[in-house]
Amino acid sequence: MNKKIAVIKGDGIGPEIVGEAMKVLDKVAQVYGHNFEYDQLLMGGCSIDAYGVPLTDETVSRCKAADAVLMGSIGGDTTTSPWYKLPANLRPEAGLLGIRKALGLFANLRPSRLYPQLAGACPLKEEISSRGFDMLIMRELTGGLYFGERKTVEENGVTTAVDTLTYTDGEIRRIAVKAFEVAMKRRKKVTSVDKANVLDSSRLWRKIVTEVAADYPEVTLEHMLVDNSAMQLVKDPAQFDVMVTENMFGDILSDEASMITGSIGMLPSASMNETKFGLYEPSGGSAPDIAGQNKANPIATILSAAMMLRFSFDMQAEADAVENAVENVLDNGFRTGDIMSDGMKCVSCSQMGDLISAAIK
Ligand code: NAD
Repeated sequence: MNKKIAVIKGDGIGPEIVGEAMKVLDKVAQVYGHNFEYDQLLMGGCSIDAYGVPLTDETVSRCKAADAVLMGSIGGDTTTSPWYKLPANLRPEAGLLGIRKALGLFANLRPSRLYPQLAGACPLKEEISSRGFDMLIMRELTGGLYFGERKTVEENGVTTAVDTLTYTDGEIRRIAVKAFEVAMKRRKKVTSVDKANVLDSSRLWRKIVTEVAADYPEVTLEHMLVDNSAMQLVKDPAQFDVMVTENMFGDILSDEASMITGSIGMLPSASMNETKFGLYEPSGGSAPDIAGQNKANPIATILSAAMMLRFSFDMQAEADAVENAVENVLDNGFRTGDIMSDGMKCVSCSQMGDLISAAIK
């Protein structure tokens, strides 16, 4: 298969970790007989330095012309970098919001998996962590409270702030469809999280998700209130497969879910539109404190590339091969500095990329 991948290496550790993911993709192409063509583009701080803006129309149109986008991370040290003396709309992060909007990426997928080899980093009790967990939070990214009308008014000496939580049936339907499609490629269970005992928007959410479920008889659907979900995540995370929820609930729950794995350098993410098109990036930032030192953990970016193979290119066996290669390397005791523990072998970013590539059979 021929696939064109737009590559945004970005700033800080971005070029290092994306370089290793490309190394792994090249090995997948070689083993499985594919051809991956890369179109390398600038975004974030490096785009500000080159063009004066964090995101150019050229970068957007070349991303749209690709089959998927692989990204590192953008931004610099927010206290010392000159990028943060610019107005907010010209800072590196404005590029990130701009590209998500320009590409219509409304579904954010964040897998949260506890690797048995790294269970020691999990802050939960051993009786819970020993069961392991492998879940994915799908967060609606372009609607809800963060995009509703807001205002602050002062009347008769009283200041009132208003935020509006709005969802249309169409916005809920498209994210619900995405959640069921992803569940079909996993363990076929969807937990829809809402606050239907209080909020109208949640009652509509529950109704539409239930309607969509009828098209996926193989998938088990359960509804859960958001407060209970926050508790269940730390009590019994193994019960979840795909959790789908609105923007703000997803923002909070996805951070909770990543925290209980204990290792940010291991967590991939994807943002998708209605088609199979997506932007794939690690959950962490540009880590300016370790940039350029060949120390960063490339696994989150490599696993993001695996998500791209699975969800954008429908290459299940290839995605499995990358994920198995990561497990194999962890099984053999290799660790980057951020996940290092006693008795393990500490390797650099590029050595980790070499080891994972070599483990792809
Ligand atoms: P960060 O995630 O970059 O770093 C937090 C800590 O985690 C640091 O100690 C860092 O060294 C470590 N870390 C992160 N990724 C790692 C990896 N792959 N391997 C080893 N260690 C890793 O968060 P921050 O310091 O708050 O932000 C730094 C910059 O990144 C800021 O400019 C911020 O705006 C930006 N940022 C970008 C994105 C993105 O591109 N999507 C996301 C978050 C933050």
